[in-house]
Amino acid sequence: MHEITRGVVLGTSIAGMLAASALARHVDEVVVVERDEAPTGPFSRKGLPQSWHVHQLWSSGAKLIDKLLPGTINRLYQAGANRIGVPQQHITLTAFGWQHRFTESQYMVCCSRPLIDWTILQQIQAEPRITVLWEHDATGLLGTADHVTGVIVRDMATGAHREMQADLVVDATGRASQLANWLTGMGLPPVETDVVDSGITYATRLFRAPPGAGQGFPIVTVYADYRVPRPGQNGTIFPIENGNWLVTVSGTRGGEPPADDHAFTEFARGLRHPIVADFLAGAEPLTSVRRTRSTSNRRLHFDKLPQWPRGLAAIGDAVAAFNPIFGHGIIAAAMGATALSEALERVSSVGDVGALLVRKVARIVDEPWLIATSQDTCYPDCRIQAKDPRLTEKPDPRQQQLTDFVSEVATRQPVVNNALLRITSLSAPSSCMQEPDVLAALQAGPTHPRLTEPPLSTSERMLLQRA
Ligand SMILES: Cc1cc2nc3c(=O)[nH]c(=O)nc-3n(C[C@H](O)[C@H](O)[C@H](O)COP(=O)(O)OP(=O)(O)OC[C@H]3O[C@@H](n4cnc5c(N)ncnc54)[C@H](O)[C@@H]3O)c2cc1C
Repeated sequence: MHEITRGVVLGTSIAGMLAASALARHVDEVVVVERDEAPTGPFSRKGLPQSWHVHQLWSSGAKLIDKLLPGTINRLYQAGANRIGVPQQHITLTAFGWQHRFTESQYMVCCSRPLIDWTILQQIQAEPRITVLWEHDATGLLGTADHVTGVIVRDMATGAHREMQADLVVDATGRASQLANWLTGMGLPPVETDVVDSGITYATRLFRAPPGAGQGFPIVTVYADYRVPRPGQNGTIFPIENGNWLVTVSGTRGGEPPADDHAFTEFARGLRHPIVADFLAGAEPLTSVRRTRSTSNRRLHFDKLPQWPRGLAAIGDAVAAFNPIFGHGIIAAAMGATALSEALERVSSVGDVGALLVRKVARIVDEPWLIATSQDTCYPDCRIQAKDPRLTEKPDPRQQQLTDFVSEVATRQPVVNNALLRITSLSAPSSCMQEPDVLAALQAGPTHPRLTEPPLSTSERMLLQRA
């Protein structure tokens, strides 16, 4: 007789939901354990404090989500998400000056984070093999350091604990993950953990876009110049569903944005260029400011443990969480779920997948980890607790000069910009800079003049004049 196989996924955020969809193709039932109450619509919830803030969903992440759960991105567009081409529809002040609005080579799906989660949730709830167990907290693992056989969950309403057996447990509980402690409790050595904390604080407010800033309005971003030894401050206008703008400003330690509504726009005005504040002058605030400091880069090297238990896997922020400024968390989660799906194709028993996945996920997170941490370490009072020599040793100044040169040329050369965007959207590894046409373009240098003003279209300029 066929034995029922069960996967248990911890956490119903993006990593957890995508993992559940991958797992559902390989086991008879998937139970997703979530400590929050079931949402009743696309609303922020307690377990996702980041959901108030801008979430860039890069093209690469969108494509991976759609492969795991076909039709998701179209549903997002139908619900009002905007597809915004980059760099064409992204007005950006980079550390190296204004970016020319070259023809689109990547895009972002722009909507609120709750809409992304709600849309994915509806997709997985339509899958008969998946059940979500809301208001249940995962409190520990069952089994041994050789073989995890399930999870202990607590009913948040009654406080009662119960054991759930599983062929595979996938931890997707994000930054709150207790997995390292659970493994140590089972007798494994402490998990090597790297933390790079620039102290970046996010502050976000929702605005109704001014009349005239309808469909096609660009993303507007002012980035810090990480080469200047002062706190890094950023700001972005993100056109989302319902004709609204989600506006997030951020600052590293010593330059944090205020929680105060009145000071919000003034903070934006103090960025390297006042364009965000200038556009806000015509917009109507709909909410107060929300802040979060839960933004440090934190990476757990599960791959360095001397052994990995059968029946266990981990993906998403539970393994590596990044400073969100580059928008890499969702892509890394989707890449992890894709790797889970691929690894499941290769094993004869789902419980064997974890050992394959732990190494693959370590490779996946390395690129976004380096992109985020190498910039964060430039900011004053960035706190580093790491063994990774790439973080603890003094950077090679020639390497930094090369990176700066590439970034500068990218603002004024479309081929180099395309390559840089492939890297920053995690569509290609950084080695794509070695491609012959990119090297030739770098050698030839910028094809376009340096911009001294933001590259606004006539209608965008008129909007500013009206504000
Ligand atoms: C301020 C901010 C802005 C961000 N902006 C971007 C962006 O622009 N683009 C981008 O790609 N990424 C961004 N990120 C990162 C992104 O939010 C995460 O990478 C993404 O949510 C995937 O995380 P996850 O699914 O692994 O974990 P999470 O999203 O943290 O979800 C964990 C889930 O597990 C649940 N949970 C936790 N503990 C337990 C438990 N013990 N038992 C049961 N359930 C539990 C929680 O309630 C939650 O539902 C941002 C992050 C922050 C903090």
